[in-house]
Amino acid sequence: GKKQRLDKILSHVGYGSRSELRKQAKQGLITVNGVAQKDSGAHVDPYNDTIEVAGEAVIYREHIYLMMNKPPGVLSATEDKRDRTVLDLLDERYAVFEPFPVGRLDKDTVGLLLLTSDGQLAHELLSPRKHVPKTYEALVEGEVGPEDVEAFAQGVRLDDGYVTLPAQLTILGRERGKQIISQISLTITEGKFHQVKRMFQAVGKKVIFLKRVSMGHLLLDGNLPEGACRELTNEELKLLG
Ligand code: URA
Repeated sequence: GKKQRLDKILSHVGYGSRSELRKQAKQGLITVNGVAQKDSGAHVDPYNDTIEVAGEAVIYREHIYLMMNKPPGVLSATEDKRDRTVLDLLDERYAVFEPFPVGRLDKDTVGLLLLTSDGQLAHELLSPRKHVPKTYEALVEGEVGPEDVEAFAQGVRLDDGYVTLPAQLTILGRERGKQIISQISLTITEGKFHQVKRMFQAVGKKVIFLKRVSMGHLLLDGNLPEGACRELTNEELKLLG
């Protein structure tokens, strides 16, 4: 691997500012391959040299890849004057990588949101030419039926005239209260603004709950509480590649 300044390596993965690291190095708290390195500007290989700070082994990586179970009521944006954003929910140890959300979920939509500092991966997942499938589960007012499954398989005309690509609608169940609520799953391979809600609007129905459960081959971790976030495993990262 390429050598870089020790303080740059350590600040990148969240071990503090360069001036803090200079002090720690002087105190002998930073070791490289088991030997104290008192010069925080020394050049080392972050992938092949073993670096420890106060006895803790440093795991270096260029980018971070996070899976969030987005809660309702927060924006999948990087900043907003009024509302909280998904970045406000991130632990500082992740925030140092400056990740951003890969695509958008509506404020009231929950579920799988990928955040990364890797612009190239984000670009590939969002490229309209790649047709990365995204699966949603929803509650819809009214009785979703086989005619809707057929309409979505053909493509429906949205309010702006756009005709959607074939999408797979599955009816999961129905709840009978004062009115019928349908539970459905829908896989789309594009990402128009408010697409799922507008597809149901096109067939005269209203989405009242929306959750994304997968993106490409990556599935939302069912054990991840709403608002929580974790790094992708290497296996999950490969699924996206
Ligand atoms: N479709 C929508 O309507 N909203 C979302 O948040 C995602 C897909």
